[in-house]
Amino acid sequence: MLHKGHVVGTSGNVSLRIKSESEDTEELYAITPSDMDYDEIDIEDIVIMNAKGKRVRDAGGKRNRPSVEKMLHLGIYQARPDVGGIIHTHSIFPSAISLLVENLPNEELPAILEDQVAFLGGSIKVAKYAPSGSPELAKNVLEAIGDKACVIMRRHGACCVGKNLKKAYRNVELLNKTAKIYLYASACGKVTPLPTEAINHALRLYAATRHL
Ligand SMILES: [Zn+2]
Repeated sequence: MLHKGHVVGTSGNVSLRIKSESEDTEELYAITPSDMDYDEIDIEDIVIMNAKGKRVRDAGGKRNRPSVEKMLHLGIYQARPDVGGIIHTHSIFPSAISLLVENLPNEELPAILEDQVAFLGGSIKVAKYAPSGSPELAKNVLEAIGDKACVIMRRHGACCVGKNLKKAYRNVELLNKTAKIYLYASACGKVTPLPTEAINHALRLYAATRHL
């Protein structure tokens, strides 16, 4: 994320669902710590929290605070049982798209490429603006992501989800690529969406693989 320019300094955050082993134990989540540079984060710095966002375990005696966007992550885990990993980035191209929302058809990044639809779930919504770390931002992101694999966050960045972190990161790259192509192509001429038949075909692939 850092070396590919999806985050700068301490921005963005990453989390992982830790499935509970039995019904008696609560589900836990691993999340990156607040206000720490990525190139300084060790495994022991990762915070383990419960569904309320409370730190439940001190890894290596460290008492780091969970990311300020923890409620955004927890809201998605609660609404989407299919999601095992979440990555919030400040990727350049989705951020640029987010500034053009009034010029986008239906105020979303249209379904223009087959891989976008098959892996991200089609056109991509732009969540309404709210300040970083606020409950409103968590609500806006959850509303806009629906059952898709990513959402663009207005004047901010993006949030991508996946069955696991590897898939979530693939979606980070795929969203950035799609947004980049859309911006480059629309600078040269009119961009049209994929034909409906192709969208429907790719959406069936998305539905079939989302839970795998
Ligand atoms: Zn952010």
